[in-house]
Amino acid sequence: MPPILLAVDKTYPKGLMWFRRDLRVDDNAALYHALRACRQVVCVFVFDEAILEPLPRADRRVEFIRESLVELQATLEALGGGLIVRHAVAADEIARLAHALDVQAVFANRDDEPAALARDAQVLGGLANAGVAFHTYKDQTIFDRDEVLTKTGQPYTVFTPYKRAWLAKVDDFFLKPYPSRGHADALVPPPKAHQQPVPTLAQLGFSPTNLSTLGIPTGAEGGAALFDDFFQRIDRYDTARNYPAVRGPSYLGVHLRFGTVSIRQMASIAHQLSLQGPNGGQGAATWLSELIWRDFYFQVLTHHPRIAEGKSFRPEYDKIIWHHGKHADMLFDAWCRGETGYPLVDAAMHQINQSGYMHNRLRMVVASFLCKDLGVDWRRGEAYFATHLNDFELASNNGGWQWASSSGCDAQPYFRIFNPVTQSERFDPEGKFIRRYLPQLAKLSDKMIHAPWKASPVELEAAGIVLGTTYPKPVVDHAEARDRTLQRYGVVRGPATTQ
Ligand SMILES: Cc1cc2nc3c(=O)[nH]c(=O)nc-3n(C[C@H](O)[C@H](O)[C@H](O)COP(=O)(O)OP(=O)(O)OC[C@H]3O[C@@H](n4cnc5c(N)ncnc54)[C@H](O)[C@@H]3O)c2cc1C
Repeated sequence: MPPILLAVDKTYPKGLMWFRRDLRVDDNAALYHALRACRQVVCVFVFDEAILEPLPRADRRVEFIRESLVELQATLEALGGGLIVRHAVAADEIARLAHALDVQAVFANRDDEPAALARDAQVLGGLANAGVAFHTYKDQTIFDRDEVLTKTGQPYTVFTPYKRAWLAKVDDFFLKPYPSRGHADALVPPPKAHQQPVPTLAQLGFSPTNLSTLGIPTGAEGGAALFDDFFQRIDRYDTARNYPAVRGPSYLGVHLRFGTVSIRQMASIAHQLSLQGPNGGQGAATWLSELIWRDFYFQVLTHHPRIAEGKSFRPEYDKIIWHHGKHADMLFDAWCRGETGYPLVDAAMHQINQSGYMHNRLRMVVASFLCKDLGVDWRRGEAYFATHLNDFELASNNGGWQWASSSGCDAQPYFRIFNPVTQSERFDPEGKFIRRYLPQLAKLSDKMIHAPWKASPVELEAAGIVLGTTYPKPVVDHAEARDRTLQRYGVVRGPATTQ
């Protein structure tokens, strides 16, 4: 189309594209709409002081975002635009910037977390006062809000029927990419006064982390490289994903969190592969199912925002009296440090502490261990994960913890209590994962590594282990803890099913 016609078609002379958790150019819904609707588009990202303030001063996510922004800024510049990067309170800064840049509209992708909705309501008010429009778009999920409902128009609270409805509804319309680059001629560099490199970590008040030592790739390029690697082994995902010592999952969580990959692209490829042959696409089908869990938890949060305020999805679970006081604090600290005496639990906690990642199987094991073996309130574990996970996602994290504690919408029954030793024997049979994170146990046999306290004094001595000194004794006895948990959960059974 000749440029002159395009210019006439456009609604706004100038718009502002506000990047948040969508740090890519390709297939970006809001950017596409901004480029289509405005003759000129300026881009901005705000390091939101309201979000950064409570974070630990060394935080891999801040470094991940910063590195990804350096790439995004370079990509936008190569396309003739640029990226303003601010460090301010976003709720105030966007209206200020809209005024300074003299734009008529701001474009952003939706974020349905309660705090983000409150911030956006404030931004909308500020912009509206100045006569500036605020347009937001779905970009984080395939379906959100009320797009997948039961036949009676209710939100789903059980995953399997939700997944069935999701699969019945999905088609090219929902999976097709937004060709943002095709409209990049509307990008303009920010005015000179606003052109600055991305602030350093020190300027943001943060210290460097071990992100690059860990080899966690950042930015859209990093996300694409991880996906290419995963694509080679997606066929094996349905089995390999269960074994923490194996490179089974995609490790794309942090990229989905910050939008350095497109959920549409991921789901579209997985969907196409899942339809191949009767068994051929099983790995892809299972992976797609995980992406659907993600959509499921997003819509649960949308419809039940009280779960973000520490409320159990099932209110009766708030009657549970958790172990509290000094002894509970001691147990919680042992869990956080990976010193419970249960090797699989401890190795998993070392994994999150050292890398910000934890394998899905292990998230389930340690979450169950915290609330059903140690009797500690699941919300304390949820908060610990929120601080430490690179891929922390409010909806999925809450969903995972409420699943493990049985208080969630589609949770495991309260009497299902993972045995940390049998989980270890089953999913890390040779103790490879345990040895990686607990080298002090490396010389124990494959049989004994799952429960060192069962090893004979001779075996322990030969492995160079002094229980209680080089490796902790178990902080609880699983069988006794199990009985205590069943009693503790007795309050949720109700009179009809009490035995
Ligand atoms: C207690 C607990 C807490 C969790 N906290 C989070 C969290 O904060 N953020 C998060 O993204 N996931 C969370 N999960 C879900 C899951 O463990 C992670 O998504 C997964 O381990 C991330 O690794 P991956 O990217 O290699 O996953 P893959 O196995 O490759 O899966 C691909 C993607 O699918 C999504 N996904 C996979 N499993 C789930 C699931 N059960 N629920 C929702 N989405 C899923 C994620 O976006 C993931 O990146 C949690 C699970 C539990 C049991």
